[in-house]
Amino acid sequence: MQLGCHISVAKGFSKACRRAKELGADAFQIFTKNPRALRPKKINVPDAEKGVQFLRENGITLVTHTPYITNLSTPKSDLHEVTVRSIKEDLHIADTYGAVGAVVHCGKHVGEGVEAGTRRMIETLNEILSDYDGDCKLLLENTAGQGSELGLTIEDLVTIREATDYPEKIGFCFDTCHGFAAGAWMEDTFDQLVQVMEETGYIQSLVAIHFNDSKVPYNSRKDRHEKIGKGEIGASALAKFLRCEMFEGLPIVLETPVEQEEEYAEEIRYLRQLKQEESTV
Ligand SMILES: [Zn+2]
Ligand SMILES: [Zn+2]
Repeated sequence: MQLGCHISVAKGFSKACRRAKELGADAFQIFTKNPRALRPKKINVPDAEKGVQFLRENGITLVTHTPYITNLSTPKSDLHEVTVRSIKEDLHIADTYGAVGAVVHCGKHVGEGVEAGTRRMIETLNEILSDYDGDCKLLLENTAGQGSELGLTIEDLVTIREATDYPEKIGFCFDTCHGFAAGAWMEDTFDQLVQVMEETGYIQSLVAIHFNDSKVPYNSRKDRHEKIGKGEIGASALAKFLRCEMFEGLPIVLETPVEQEEEYAEEIRYLRQLKQEESTV
């Protein structure tokens, strides 16, 4: 299990890699480009090579996140075009950086209905992946179910992946906060969640976990991250993920609210402690 956090890439990729090590992270996540804009990005090749080498030498795993404002299910042709172009670029950047996966949010049907939105999402994924042959997988993240978001349940995500022409290029990222907010799990139903992950084959394609507590209650369908142990999910429920054999070996990445990145060093230490406590129970 590789514990880490989201890190700013504002000062360049190789700096972010070094930052991960300073914070004590074995895994980290960066945005491939500005999360609220879709401007094309040029890769600084020497910087990328430097970063990749550093990560290899230090055994650190990278996950990337694509910008928020794409919509895989949009009925609007202009946003659709931008979404396809942008995510293709994100995959290329992520692959160049040696990331294990590039996280993408599931589509929003924006009033067109779940069925139409899902169909559109599958078509868009096919378009994005048709000529992609990198090692980095496109990771579908479960959503909190805010507004018209699709992809709340493990079953839906597995169905979407399998309905595409390229399931082998698609993996999953499970966000603990989103799952809780969507009513997919809580402390008492953790075992059922793991069982569903196993039965549906989700677990074989699970590449990363976003590790967050939630500011809002179970099934509230709102995406509000909180620091581990400070929210509605609670430390004992979240610790189950850290202690579960099924998730051993996966990058576990904090996306909890911080004012300064340094705070993550302490939170990562806290996770290591939380994981260890099982031996004393
Ligand atoms: Zn997330
Ligand atoms: Zn979120």
